[in-house]
Amino acid sequence: MAADRMLQFVGREQSYPDKRSAAERARDFNEIAERYAAPDADEQASRCSQCGVPYCSVHCPLHNHIPDWLRLTAEGRLREAYELSNATSTMPEICGRICPQDRLCEGNCVIEFSGHGAVTIGSVEKYITDTAWAEGWVEPLQPGRDTGQSVGIIGAGPAGLTAAEYMRVQGHEVHVYDRHDRAGGLLTYGIPGFKLEKDVVMRRIDRLAAGGIHFHLGFEVGGDATLDQLRQKHDAILIATGVYKAREINVPGNQAEGVIAALDYLIASNRKSFGDEVAAFDSGQLNAEGKHVVVIGGGDTAMDCVRTAVRQGAKSVKCLYRRDRENMPGSQREVSNAEEEGVEFVWLSAPEAFTADKTVKEVAVAGMRLGAPDASGRRSPELDPERKFDLPADMVIKALGFDPEELPHLFGSPDLSVTRWGTLRVDHQTMMTSLPGVFAAGDIVRGASLVVWGIRDGRDVSEQMSKWLKAKVKIEKRAA
Ligand SMILES: Cc1cc2nc3c(=O)[nH]c(=O)nc-3n(C[C@H](O)[C@H](O)[C@H](O)COP(=O)(O)OP(=O)(O)OC[C@H]3O[C@@H](n4cnc5c(N)ncnc54)[C@H](O)[C@@H]3O)c2cc1C
Ligand code: SF4
Repeated sequence: MAADRMLQFVGREQSYPDKRSAAERARDFNEIAERYAAPDADEQASRCSQCGVPYCSVHCPLHNHIPDWLRLTAEGRLREAYELSNATSTMPEICGRICPQDRLCEGNCVIEFSGHGAVTIGSVEKYITDTAWAEGWVEPLQPGRDTGQSVGIIGAGPAGLTAAEYMRVQGHEVHVYDRHDRAGGLLTYGIPGFKLEKDVVMRRIDRLAAGGIHFHLGFEVGGDATLDQLRQKHDAILIATGVYKAREINVPGNQAEGVIAALDYLIASNRKSFGDEVAAFDSGQLNAEGKHVVVIGGGDTAMDCVRTAVRQGAKSVKCLYRRDRENMPGSQREVSNAEEEGVEFVWLSAPEAFTADKTVKEVAVAGMRLGAPDASGRRSPELDPERKFDLPADMVIKALGFDPEELPHLFGSPDLSVTRWGTLRVDHQTMMTSLPGVFAAGDIVRGASLVVWGIRDGRDVSEQMSKWLKAKVKIEKRAA
């Protein structure tokens, strides 16, 4: 089967010589495919046309070697496929699950352009790495030769964890500080378990801890230590704290009981899936069961909230967004998923007020229409005086996005320079902040972004930090 498909490959040189016979290859492929019940991974992989310019790789932030590992997968050489995908990513099975592939690799597949539907790259990536975990091919983290230097990383999200892994491989002592009780950042407490199973995140973290990375959890930089104190302790620091200041809706009733912040809601739900006691969930405050739920916002966080509310057994779930479907920031795939699950989208609508008795009862909604395009080219919403209506609501979830917290103030470091958006200002070549030896990566530099960009930044910043640490040793030797 797989051997037949191999004949369809065109154009590219075989970069991984395979010494097995065709029959052996087919046997290996079939055995593994049966064991992991991914009926179409091989079919999907063999649809790749191995085109001369791999647009999928170009548009993957990690520049993964996609056509090569698709070819290996189609040939049943899953271990090599895994090794190749692992060479450019610290968490391929996570990206395979939650990257918005329609905007990245798959959205740029030439087969998609020809109208035949993209190769489902993300699901193949997930499949090969899940197989690698199941087969024991995922190697333990091997620390490099001890450099005698120590690195402090603030934030255990994808950017911080990726940098931690690469810095440890280079032989540094690595300490990761996070204010949560579990590592993973938004992988753990933001993204819901139905998109990203929590054991998939935890096994990555366990592997890092087993490789000698020290995790200091429940440790808030700014409360438990200042940035300066950490700088005294470590040779270099990475700030990878993400963005957590929720944007507010300034309308009457926005503090009423039952009007809640998206992340509080998602954290409670994720904690429950870990089996934690969550009083605010058990009391019903952060549980959508039996309620009419209205989610405000059109991004991926809003999509996660509506889909979580459906799973909790809400009576109805509506999503209010001030632009139309074509102009919403969230992934179209997520919108379709939500619609299939029964979520109603109320386009071109914004809340004017939340009316509450003891708790919220209704959302007064103002109709919107789209005006002239703004500087970014998106048409700006404006009030449509012809449309006004009320929606019943026992729970309103505010999901309007996130801005950076005020880190210079929070960290007691007024010299830490920020941009006018509050993100950390870095030198874009060295990724160093205004403080020598203090680097930054991930959402705290980019603003709210994607997991795959966090991983890319973690990879890049570890290279820059490594160069800086080597130079530091030379300077110290010269001075001694
Ligand atoms: C609800 C939601 C769903 C999302 N879904 C997707 C998706 O499906 N696909 C996708 O690609 N992206 C998604 N994203 C975006 C993605 O999660 C982020 O872009 C990514 O996690 C950023 O990584 P990071 O490492 O920069 O920060 P984070 O993941 O935010 O991690 C930062 C860490 O720093 C810690 N921290 C912050 N301040 C301090 C402090 N003072 N002291 C100690 N620790 C601190 C935090 O506790 C956190 O653990 C989603 C975001 C949200 C909010
Ligand atoms: S990391 Fe994301 S963008 Fe890159 S190949 Fe994987 S799913 Fe596609």
